[in-house]
Amino acid sequence: MTDTIDAPAAVKPINHWIDGGAFAGESGRTGPVYNPATGVQSGAVDFASVEEIDRAVQAAKRALPEWRSMSLAKRAELFFRIRELFHAEREELAKFLTAEHGKVLSDAMGEVTRGLEVIEFCCGLPHLLKGEMTEQASTSVDVYSIRQPLGVVAGITPFNFPAMVPMWMWGPALACGNTFVLKPSEKDPSASVYTAQLLKEAGVPDGVFNVVHGDKVAVDALLEHDDVSAISFVGSTPIARYIHERASANGKRVQALGGAKNHAIVMPDADLDFTANHLTAAGYGSAGQRCMAISVAVAVGDAADELVEKLRAKAVAIKVGPGLEPDSEMGPVVTGAARDRIVDYIGRGEGDVVVDGREIDIEGDGFWVGPTLIDNVTTDMSVYTDEIFGPVLGVVRVDTLDEAIELINRNPFANGVAIFTGSGQAARLFQRKIQVGMIGVNVPIPVPMAFYSFGGWKQSLFGDHHIHGPEGIRFYTRAKVVTTRWPESLDAAHMHFPTAT
Ligand code: NAD
Repeated sequence: MTDTIDAPAAVKPINHWIDGGAFAGESGRTGPVYNPATGVQSGAVDFASVEEIDRAVQAAKRALPEWRSMSLAKRAELFFRIRELFHAEREELAKFLTAEHGKVLSDAMGEVTRGLEVIEFCCGLPHLLKGEMTEQASTSVDVYSIRQPLGVVAGITPFNFPAMVPMWMWGPALACGNTFVLKPSEKDPSASVYTAQLLKEAGVPDGVFNVVHGDKVAVDALLEHDDVSAISFVGSTPIARYIHERASANGKRVQALGGAKNHAIVMPDADLDFTANHLTAAGYGSAGQRCMAISVAVAVGDAADELVEKLRAKAVAIKVGPGLEPDSEMGPVVTGAARDRIVDYIGRGEGDVVVDGREIDIEGDGFWVGPTLIDNVTTDMSVYTDEIFGPVLGVVRVDTLDEAIELINRNPFANGVAIFTGSGQAARLFQRKIQVGMIGVNVPIPVPMAFYSFGGWKQSLFGDHHIHGPEGIRFYTRAKVVTTRWPESLDAAHMHFPTAT
């Protein structure tokens, strides 16, 4: 977690958003927010106390009856307005991401676009919330099901997708009639405050969407709060496991998405130019700080030597620079601590470092690590076992597809995986045998479109529901089944357990 600091006067205060307006924190605790491209502190974000979390939850609770009673037609109309406003403001939103996360603007625009797809899906909420109906299930008896909102729900989100991941949560949560408290990452919180402003401008009533910033104190207060019905979490595996256990123990519905170590199998029959292009983008885009980034290429048979040479040539050609410069392809990493962690892994002497990101030389104090390529990685090395979460791509060499699949299936993470091949048979075998939640065939970052749901297996997701898409609607609603009887004549009741007549 970020250290608490005394904010210098020049830095921008970043406040909570409670009950339709900015709320300046009163806890006396703040955290630093940096511009990663310069290393300069740009903001001081309020850290919420237990009382401030309660204030936000109470605002959401007060807003609930009216919000959940709004007709679906009106709520859908409002969602169309939200979509239009976010679409119009997408570049403004993206600029917050570049300023505080560091990702290049084109990548930030991509993030906002993928988040918007979830909002577009939610515009179909009258259809998504339809129940089922069975007429004459028994004589004069009809049965139907409805889905109702859970109440006040909370989202806790990571630094690496400061706009899209919250949209995965608040979109479906609000569409289903819940009210929402968001605890975004304290490293890049401004996008969430801007989101709150846009939602208000679109016409979302006060209290329906609230933002509280902070650290473990804020998170724990949400996990303990009796009026919070459900928790959605996205972040690292140790915290995801903790959130799942704690929220479950407190009787809350919970989905907790964790970390990743995503592999790409490269078959000898793959088009290696195409593969190297896509692996470069998937390994180094957003400086490797994506939960679906490819961090391990598993080269099968004689694919390895040529693949490594092509990856090397591409890695050294990447234009690394500040995210607002139009020709930058890769920005800095998020904090100085992240840079130090990544640099430490590169320097451990594991495997053969073919391209060394430590050698990058950019003026100023930004948090820079260049693209790094490590060949001859083996599964006992920490660069293989750990989620480095930086621009580091390792290459593991194996002899057969079966060996590659077994290696991946032994890994405790299981978020995304891909295969590059020209063989439909290899692709089909891979699809059937691989134990990973989201898989790509010649697609290295197989993030499902908004009308499917997103989620990994094993230690990449704790809980029963994947996020957004159809599973998001199920997560944020509770099913109710209604059995009705309108008899045409007087009917005798029996003392035995009711059976259909
Ligand atoms: P993180 O786990 O450090 O933080 C995530 C959230 O948890 C933040 O809001 C943070 O304030 C809070 N938090 C941190 N420590 C806590 C603690 N001890 N107790 C309670 N709350 C705590 O993750 P991050 O560094 O912000 O994000 C990167 C991680 O998220 C990576 O592991 C990445 O793989 C993962 N991620 C996963 C997905 C996915 O869909 N599976 C998507 C994006 C990111």
